[in-house]
Amino acid sequence: MKWTVVGFWGGHPEQGEATSAYLLEEEDYTLLIDCGSGVLAQLPKYVPISQLDAVILSHFHFDHVADIGPLQYAKHVEKYIGNPKGVLPIYAHQLEPDKFRTLTYEEATKGIPYDLGKALQVGPFTITFLKTEHPAPCAAMAITDERKKIVFTADTSFFPDLIPFAKHADLLVAECSLYKGVDGKPMGHLNAEDVGFIAKQAEVKELLLSHLPHYGNHQELVEQAKVEFKGTLSLAQSGWSWEA
Ligand SMILES: [Zn+2]
Repeated sequence: MKWTVVGFWGGHPEQGEATSAYLLEEEDYTLLIDCGSGVLAQLPKYVPISQLDAVILSHFHFDHVADIGPLQYAKHVEKYIGNPKGVLPIYAHQLEPDKFRTLTYEEATKGIPYDLGKALQVGPFTITFLKTEHPAPCAAMAITDERKKIVFTADTSFFPDLIPFAKHADLLVAECSLYKGVDGKPMGHLNAEDVGFIAKQAEVKELLLSHLPHYGNHQELVEQAKVEFKGTLSLAQSGWSWEA
């Protein structure tokens, strides 16, 4: 499994970068996880858009789905210039039906619902979900290929169920929107101390801080998470990748 950061900003992208989006690849299969703003301009650095096999979305906030429209247009354009893979499946929950419906667009993309209570098979990946604590309905994902486990918190404030969900992950990709001392509950986000605590309690092997804020010094997020978590810890940046 190879995990690549396409975009890591919360809210909006900084110049030349993108908000939430990650590529998960195994052999010939390529899954895009979230498709935030700026992603369509970043994606070709890593993979041609025509090579995507599927997309899965955690929730419908703009910093996770803003470039779904441009992706649909890109698939539409492909039809005229030869599209060997055909309709692109976009997996998402149906807790906001009006938004879910927008995922199906002509012969370009098709929305496919996942059930938060059921495991989903997408290519070589088995994905289970945990509904998070966030202003919009949002799903954290635990992704396995039967050898390794990656857990993506998506957007959430701290709640105890995150710990068993992330247990023994080989890689925990955690949103880290806030610095230590800022209460994430009202906003539905994690601070660096929460993230370190989850990673420590879940005994994960490696931790990636992502969904980063537009203020302060990100290195402080690392120091604050490290107080709890003593394992390998990285700060997301465009193109950061992990392979196992
Ligand atoms: Zn959100």
